[in-house]
Amino acid sequence: MLLLAGGRVVTPGGVLGPGWIRLAGPLIDAVGSGDAPEPAAIDLHGQWVLPGFVDLHVHGGGGASFTEGTEEDARAAAAFHRAHGSTSLLASLVTAPLAELEARAAMLAGLADDGLIAGLHLEGPFLSPARRGAQDPRHMIAPDVAVFERLHAAARGHLRVITLAPELPGATRLIEAATQVGVTVAVGHTDATAGVTMAAIDAGARHATHLFNGMRPPHHREPGAAGALLDRDEVTCEVIADGVHLHDITIRLAARVTGPGRLVLVSDAMVAAGLPDGRYQLGSMQVTVAGGVARLLEDPDPTGTGPRAGAIAGSTATLADAVRHAIAAGLPVCDVVTAASTTPARVLGLADRTGALRPGLAADLVLCDDDFRPRAVMRRGEWLAPLRPVPAAGRPLYPGLACRAT
Ligand SMILES: [Zn+2]
Repeated sequence: MLLLAGGRVVTPGGVLGPGWIRLAGPLIDAVGSGDAPEPAAIDLHGQWVLPGFVDLHVHGGGGASFTEGTEEDARAAAAFHRAHGSTSLLASLVTAPLAELEARAAMLAGLADDGLIAGLHLEGPFLSPARRGAQDPRHMIAPDVAVFERLHAAARGHLRVITLAPELPGATRLIEAATQVGVTVAVGHTDATAGVTMAAIDAGARHATHLFNGMRPPHHREPGAAGALLDRDEVTCEVIADGVHLHDITIRLAARVTGPGRLVLVSDAMVAAGLPDGRYQLGSMQVTVAGGVARLLEDPDPTGTGPRAGAIAGSTATLADAVRHAIAAGLPVCDVVTAASTTPARVLGLADRTGALRPGLAADLVLCDDDFRPRAVMRRGEWLAPLRPVPAAGRPLYPGLACRAT
């Protein structure tokens, strides 16, 4: 048993301040408010305790990527995000040649077998070139159930989410086929109207990939995919709350419409997350990061149809950064934690294992300072080694974690 006490503990029922949390090996044993029931091993004074974050949309970080490179790179990308608080995450692939997607899905399935990631997210290849964002339009194809089945087989049961554009021919059959095998269908990188999106939800689509980004802007007479996805209670909506992809007003409006039970914070992080400005790779696309904003460097499409060079190309934020930004934008702490942990865990079918600080769930914790900067991360009862040797403020990385003998 390990008791942590004296901090503000964010639970499904509200913030316990002060509160305590008792761990039994890899699980949470008990959570309570007020003084600790026995001498605490770890003094949390001045810190927040949040449940480990669950990131449904991640391409890479810390200089490593799921979309290219070796298996070691993929493991490093997962480790980078874990160390920053995302104790569960999907590995997201972008549109690429089919053989490459199959090979990478098979490789990432090995990471899922090892428990390093919670599964895969295919962001493509059934996307609209008209809303391609930073993805390579040369490899976008119409929805094809046989192709889906090949990718699903390659992922060996670990494919959790697939993003598609529902206006493409064959999309309805693909939505039904994916739903039938337990893969969550997300609407994204789409030029669909509200009507087409409503039909896709009727067919089984249940999730929105980075709401507003990669969609036609909502109009009051044609609210588009974003309007339809917000309108339907059965749909969970991702937002990239990094201060770049969405205006803070847009974040607040989306949060008001969805409530915390349908809002999902994601990082959409790419290889440069946690690294300085410079040139990087996202799939087949060259990206330049300036002032922390990743943008496409050049247009690989010689026909030059569509929006190109300069498109935002994923984020350089971790989910912890998005949590901090969402709180600064005015969202209540409890709602932000629900959107970063509880709701995405539910989307993955993991609500009985992680995503909240309550007895019986995994001891997945993020200890944050007053500014919501992660200071220590625990996954399944084990403290993770910090990847950042020197914290920004020059303070020890694990402040308040002075161990008192009990
Ligand atoms: Zn993405």
